[in-house]
Amino acid sequence: MTQPVAIEQTVHALSDRVRSARPSEVRKVFRAAQRPGIISFANGAPFLDGLPFEKLAEDAHRILAEQGSAALQYGPGDGIPALRSHIVEIMRLEGIDARPEQVIVTAGSQQALDIAARVTVNPGEVVLAEGPSYAGGMAVFTSLEAEIIHVPSDHDGLIPDELEKAIAEVRCSGRVVKGLYTIPNFQNPGGVNLSSERRTRIGEICRDAGLLIFEDNPYGLLGFDGSTLPAIQPQFPDITLYFGSFSKMFAPGLRLGWVLAPDWLHAHLLNTAETGALNPAVFNQLMMSAYLDDPSWKTTLDAYRGIYRAKFEALVETLAECMPEGTQWNQPTGGFYLWITMPQDIDTEKLVYEAIERGVVYVPGTAFFTDGSGRNELRMSFCLPPLEDIRRGARILGELFTEAAAK
Ligand code: PMP
Repeated sequence: MTQPVAIEQTVHALSDRVRSARPSEVRKVFRAAQRPGIISFANGAPFLDGLPFEKLAEDAHRILAEQGSAALQYGPGDGIPALRSHIVEIMRLEGIDARPEQVIVTAGSQQALDIAARVTVNPGEVVLAEGPSYAGGMAVFTSLEAEIIHVPSDHDGLIPDELEKAIAEVRCSGRVVKGLYTIPNFQNPGGVNLSSERRTRIGEICRDAGLLIFEDNPYGLLGFDGSTLPAIQPQFPDITLYFGSFSKMFAPGLRLGWVLAPDWLHAHLLNTAETGALNPAVFNQLMMSAYLDDPSWKTTLDAYRGIYRAKFEALVETLAECMPEGTQWNQPTGGFYLWITMPQDIDTEKLVYEAIERGVVYVPGTAFFTDGSGRNELRMSFCLPPLEDIRRGARILGELFTEAAAK
């Protein structure tokens, strides 16, 4: 009897798109870091221990007891009206004036980004993004064979003159620039806020050049002092796709996010959302909606802001004591991330495996660029580890980098 031949040997089982995709650096690091007891500065995962679990359990019970067959049924493709109304109220906190019918609820903002990219981006087109930028967001565009080109940022976020330069350069090379992917608040991974003046200037540049703006904002309500800059969307509603998420302000486990887009894109987005997932999980939306019905969610969020600030302060205090000379970091005023620039000859991608051996993990800077930059940089998430682990983990890294700098 002849042996069956593996399918991948007989036909080209993989699409060209998948075959040419490069493995994600972050996922490699996460896999290597999955060992008990490791101190992880890698995950952008929120701290959840302070959530009102008893109340959530009561909500779950009540939802199933009172409306179980609706909760476990298929639902509207754009999400349940009650949650979309809450989303409109939440966006109002950032100066956005929208109607519930304009909102599409998704499985996290990650799915919203994917839907938006599918609707707007063609293979070979260019999407501009901050350098560095969120690896998962860039992957959405590159998985559809678009190219990410970085625009330099400084302590006030993306630099408008550099944006103009990048648009001109890409056009000069004969390619189409489709849009700008930006994370204006407490950026992942840079931790910076795009200044108000720049929000306006960048919007004007995009509008005048005929670009879309992909405004990704999962961290906007997580300023340490509770303040939030107005979003870009209200000034440029005709070209902005705004992405929100419950993952960081509540919990990622329900997988709920949303997209607010110009009306001319709405039907296309909804069609693509329904093609991919039929509808977002109704039970999860009812849970989220019940949580938001009680105004104490704002008090819980305030408590989280305090916790994150304390963790951030512990991290930078310890780093100041133990990192080698020439190390620099920014001063985020909210969010989850600290971006660190090491002396030039320190290779954070090589050293991360040694860090894991010593019980600590971070994400090397190269994960946040598509052009190989970031070798001497790294991102540390300070939101999840307990305070004592933050101090201990930072000391371990300080030692490792100090040894590396002395070589
Ligand atoms: N955008 C940014 C900037 C993020 O940091 C994340 C999560 N790390 C997401 C989008 C996706 O979040 P979610 O799908 O959980 O809403």
